[in-house]
Amino acid sequence: MSEQIDILIAHAHLFTMQGDGVGYVPDGAVAIEDSRIVAAGPTAELTARFQTDELIDASHCAVLPGLIDAHMHTTLSIMRGVAQDVSHWMQKALAPYARHITPESSAAATRLNVVEALKAGTTTHGDYGSPYPGWGEFFAESGARACLTPIFNALPAGGMAGWKVGDVYPFDLDKGRRAMETAVAFARDWNGAADGRITTMLGVHGPDMMPVEMLLESKEIGQRKGLMLHVHTARETAKQSRSSSATASVQSPSSRRSAIWTTSCWPCI
Ligand SMILES: [Zn+2]
Repeated sequence: MSEQIDILIAHAHLFTMQGDGVGYVPDGAVAIEDSRIVAAGPTAELTARFQTDELIDASHCAVLPGLIDAHMHTTLSIMRGVAQDVSHWMQKALAPYARHITPESSAAATRLNVVEALKAGTTTHGDYGSPYPGWGEFFAESGARACLTPIFNALPAGGMAGWKVGDVYPFDLDKGRRAMETAVAFARDWNGAADGRITTMLGVHGPDMMPVEMLLESKEIGQRKGLMLHVHTARETAKQSRSSSATASVQSPSSRRSAIWTTSCWPCI
């Protein structure tokens, strides 16, 4: 006797991502019961096993697992387009707007970006940004899967808006420490939340954006707490990569990168 299910998707180009290669099944089907996939395989096999009131004919369609976007800045989506085709886009075009983002606009931007991503088939969101109230809660309530990466740097408040391109970056070590502590607390509180649907990493904003001591401390914290580091690695020009601080001398970007590359790292270039 066949089993009753809610939905059967049939006759698809099915990509299971299991077994050899991408696990392609030329005439594939997916059985869904109570919002969960209970079986996937050849249509002939599943139609013999299941009966349903809702049969979706997916002929000429591809059916595959949800896509993973490993690096999003959902809060910046509200400023989409401001930094296109601009030289020194980050300093001259993005930063003047980014300093005016509020927690409310961040929340609106995240919701917009995640809805767009879901519509395009992305079900896992690697979101990279400064924590704001409601960030984790949104993903918990939405049902979307997420790897949330709270970022931190040692740049002064207001970021790099108005800075002269090519000048060394100034550091505000107190602000940098507070940002790192906030990020570590967020990563600790949300890692494994929503029954494991939400995981976290530590967001080292860039090797040029903090003293080497903070890079090394980030590495040590990541190792101690079992958190991967998620880092922008190749954004800066040679001149912009120079940094000054009260505690560290100017270092090349490659030496800064090599300071942390031995730990588990997820570089974003
Ligand atoms: Zn990025």
